[in-house]
Amino acid sequence: MSGPVVRFAPSPTGLIHIGNARTALLNALFARKERGTFILRLDDTDRARSEERFAEAIKQDLAWLGIPPDKTEKQSARLARYETALEKLRGMNRVYACYETEEELDRKRKRQLGRGLPPVYDRAALTMSAEDRAKYESEGRKAYWRFKLDHRVVRWNDLVRGEIAIDTTSLSDPVVARADGTWLYSMSSVVDDIDMNVTHVIRGEDHITNTAAQLDMFDALGGKAPVFAHHNLLTLPGGEGLSKRFGSLSIQSLREAGQESLAIAAAAVLTGTSLAVEPVQTLDALAEKIDFKKISHGPARFDPADLDALTAKTLHGAAFASVADRLNALGVGGGEKLWLAVRGNLARLSDAKEWWAVVSAPMASQIASEDCDFCKLAETLLPAEPWGEKVWDEWLAAIKPVANRKGRELFHPLRIALTARENGPELRALLPLIGRTRASARLRGEMA
Ligand code: GLU
Repeated sequence: MSGPVVRFAPSPTGLIHIGNARTALLNALFARKERGTFILRLDDTDRARSEERFAEAIKQDLAWLGIPPDKTEKQSARLARYETALEKLRGMNRVYACYETEEELDRKRKRQLGRGLPPVYDRAALTMSAEDRAKYESEGRKAYWRFKLDHRVVRWNDLVRGEIAIDTTSLSDPVVARADGTWLYSMSSVVDDIDMNVTHVIRGEDHITNTAAQLDMFDALGGKAPVFAHHNLLTLPGGEGLSKRFGSLSIQSLREAGQESLAIAAAAVLTGTSLAVEPVQTLDALAEKIDFKKISHGPARFDPADLDALTAKTLHGAAFASVADRLNALGVGGGEKLWLAVRGNLARLSDAKEWWAVVSAPMASQIASEDCDFCKLAETLLPAEPWGEKVWDEWLAAIKPVANRKGRELFHPLRIALTARENGPELRALLPLIGRTRASARLRGEMA
């Protein structure tokens, strides 16, 4: 048996944000863990709003997150399949033509709400006479199509939420094709899931009622229904939903702000579960944590302010191999030694540039006048080369007996002399990287 097939199905009408990334990651990492296939399906049937640049941006974002799809499909290339499916449903009397305008539908809904009724479509078009139809057509109206729900209780065992039962009598018959001939994903998604042998639909809980209608369509079209998992949606701390309005939470802006992709992935996947939101070192490790039963049924409250700490912690534990290429691209040398020395002090990866400059580029002295003599004394005690691992300890052992200083009074001037900074990585790790020549000159107050 081959592994599961899952899909992430955004419409390319904007940039994806961290809430969309939650859906994408849950799909991709589930496929990774179960040795399955992860499909990116672009729901681009809305021709007016779909744009190629957004499709490209989504692909780029998935690649950056470390989850490039195994396959990419787009609905705009599959229109003939939807036509065939509609034809089949028409033959079975499971779809019917409707002619109401948006305004007419809106008036109906308002009337129903006014009477305290749910705004469910009244199936007026089902009982339309041949004359009514002829009249509409002569007015130049074009039909749009609704799927006729088989009014019954639809049940499924949701991987996140357990048993779900929805009485489709309470739902409007979903529109599957618009009057202008464009398709709605209500049906096209079912056709795709059947054709692409999708085994698991992992998506937001805002789709739960769609699932009831879609399960009815899987039956009508004679397809095998996938297993469903409806995850909670990320919200802001106040409960407000994420939307494309929050441009700052788009994956693109988070990347540009220097957040680590693994930090975003950890926040996106672990928030709103019974697991701690903590950094991970690999996507495989994050995939291992995925357990649909651990996803909460309430909202997943996400505080964007937590991302900074998560990015920092991710860097503090990152292995050199996992960042080597990016350090190289930033022009940061020094190899693993430098990385291990400075990683614990980084808020962003690019901060490594500063520490690389501290150990490798000349800088002006900042030694306070009252510390000049002490630094000169310390300079005379620098161990001779070659320097081994213990050079810092050897140096201190030589300084302590002769300097009349200890604690901060001893260390702080050395830090200022060697790095021109108040704080930073341990001098024990930096000193060997700075090297004897440069350290000696800096302690004498020279630019080096
Ligand atoms: N394009 C739909 C959406 O983004 C797809 C939903 C689904 O996963 O089936 O909401």
